[in-house]
Amino acid sequence: MRLIILGPPGVGKGTQSKLIAQKLGLVHLSTGDILRKAVESGTELGLKAKSTMESGGLVPDDVMIGIIKDALSDEKVKHDGFILDGFPRTLNQAIALNEILYELSFNNIQIINIYANDNILIQRMTGRGRIDDTSEVVQKRLGVYKETTAPIKEYYAKSFEVIDINGLDEINTINEEIIRNLKINKENS
Ligand code: AMP
Repeated sequence: MRLIILGPPGVGKGTQSKLIAQKLGLVHLSTGDILRKAVESGTELGLKAKSTMESGGLVPDDVMIGIIKDALSDEKVKHDGFILDGFPRTLNQAIALNEILYELSFNNIQIINIYANDNILIQRMTGRGRIDDTSEVVQKRLGVYKETTAPIKEYYAKSFEVIDINGLDEINTINEEIIRNLKINKENS
């Protein structure tokens, strides 16, 4: 199964992606996690991305597209399927992703979109204790989401059925709702 999970920061994409990956045996590809690891281990990518992440901005498209192309080219990803979390975040990334998926012969992509209102998102993010979760940075990330990332949903809605999920419920309720809405296709899993 090949899944893309969309939604604002703090809505629970990471939590849900982990659960879905566990339950369905998929590889969880989180660009935020990849970047945080790079920052921790002080790689060139980490050094480049650190200040952008801390300010709540977006790491440049060419860097992110390179990361995701590498990640999706992995044999395990091809064999087990994936859930993509945190990418795409710009229209350019979405267009590049289409090409990468086509080149790698990944079809039957399913898109999940989790939504919630700002108050909930702010509450959740400020409770996580991440370095980019101070109130000023949280506001910036929500602004970036609305302006740059949210329109991706409309882009996908033109050619895919987007599964809309209310992110307000309990973690397990949301998870069951997502799994219930997925098309389980054994042949193309
Ligand atoms: P996340 O864990 O998905 O909230 O990502 C944390 C931070 O990593 C974001 O606020 C961005 O600075 C950066 N980031 C993650 N994914 C992307 C992406 N697809 N494009 C640009 N920046 C990203």
